[in-house]
Amino acid sequence: MKYIPTIGIECHVQLATKTKLFSEVDNDARGKEPNSCVSPVDYALPGMLPRLNGEAVRLAILAGRAMNCKINLESRFDRKHYFYPDSPKGYQITQFYHPIIGAGYVELPSGKRVAIEHAHLEGDAGKLTHFDTYSLVDLNRVDTPLIEIVSMPDIHSAKDAHDYCKELWRLMVYAGVSYGDLYNGNMRFDVNVSIAPEGATELGTRTEVKNLNSFRSVERAAEYEIARQTKLLESGEKIIQETRGWSDATGKTTGQRSKEEAKDYRYMPEPDIPPIRLSSEFVEDESTKLPLMPADYRKKFGGKLAGDTLEVLLDYPELMRKLGEVADEGAVLLSNLFASVLLAEEKSAEYLNDLPSAEDLNELCKMNLDKELSSTATKDVFLHLFDPQMRGRGTRTIAKELGIIQENDMGALEVIVDIVLAKPETAKAQADFKAGEEKVIGFLVGQVMKESHGKANPSAVQEILRKKLS
Ligand code: MN
Repeated sequence: MKYIPTIGIECHVQLATKTKLFSEVDNDARGKEPNSCVSPVDYALPGMLPRLNGEAVRLAILAGRAMNCKINLESRFDRKHYFYPDSPKGYQITQFYHPIIGAGYVELPSGKRVAIEHAHLEGDAGKLTHFDTYSLVDLNRVDTPLIEIVSMPDIHSAKDAHDYCKELWRLMVYAGVSYGDLYNGNMRFDVNVSIAPEGATELGTRTEVKNLNSFRSVERAAEYEIARQTKLLESGEKIIQETRGWSDATGKTTGQRSKEEAKDYRYMPEPDIPPIRLSSEFVEDESTKLPLMPADYRKKFGGKLAGDTLEVLLDYPELMRKLGEVADEGAVLLSNLFASVLLAEEKSAEYLNDLPSAEDLNELCKMNLDKELSSTATKDVFLHLFDPQMRGRGTRTIAKELGIIQENDMGALEVIVDIVLAKPETAKAQADFKAGEEKVIGFLVGQVMKESHGKANPSAVQEILRKKLS
């Protein structure tokens, strides 16, 4: 029997605000002392009053628009109760009944669409670190602003699960909603997987693999769950609805808690925070602040780039932003140059730290289009633009110093051609060409190139030779 997998994904995205969701302390705790970015609101001192961060609302609007979602003009917060040492309030402030972001969709590079059910704003929990006989609590992360994006169960392969998560990452980073630092948990994925016999009208029992923090582990965990569930069903066993953990080291998921232990969160409206009421003008106005998104680049470059080139480049938002700044006619040339550096030179990180200016890149494209630089020379100058010692001098000066600017001046080229044609060693080739032997033109062009020390534009040279020998 053939089983069809069905996958839905929940993704928590940390918003790139300066301060926390409900207080005015620093939202960036990277490298800071534990419990140093904490306000009385975060540790729930009695009498504290949370106050909503407007910037988080603005970023949520951008996130929603990036996913083609409806923005709800009225949304509200709820309390989700649970007791855990990393959450001193005893509840999480989240949007359960009235989320800010409504339905929409994310389009994958393959053209498939994954529907978004909704996305809501909420505060993060703190962090526990466990030791042998004790645990330590760090509240720096408490009420860091998150949006939780809930997809419909629209995904039917581990590969598409991977592609969906990656596309979400791109959307959030391009939109400026999140720094997208996966290593520091800026985006975390919960993957729901079930399988059902082909043609079945109902979905199978699902399991949820929680807290994955890379696209690769999403793909591997989904693959593992599909195989595990298939094996269970094939041997006549039942799948238990449960939460499972993933280990990158073992490549396996393991059961953590089953449905019987499912919590009752006792949701209730959050009384301390008034509803968010947005005007449609404000939403429209904020939406216009979305910069060029992956879909815009796909439209812009269309089929002009070979194979996967554009998809590879799209993983580098800074680079794409730079390409967005250069003139359209040079964008394809530069995309190919960047791709060759990223793919072949294997120095991507180093190269991408410090990109050349748009001005230098535009000049490079212009020199190439004007045939002042051959394709080899263009790449040579391009690589020199990454050299901090060289780049200050500007594209043209670098090309001059390298001595690789092509001679296009027809008058100057004619003088060189005449010198070559006057040489006795070219006499036979000239006679052969006149007698109809086409291919000796290559030899003559080569002689002119030599005479010009490689600076002549070969196609211009050929044109002059043909004129003179006809
Ligand atoms: Mn959540």
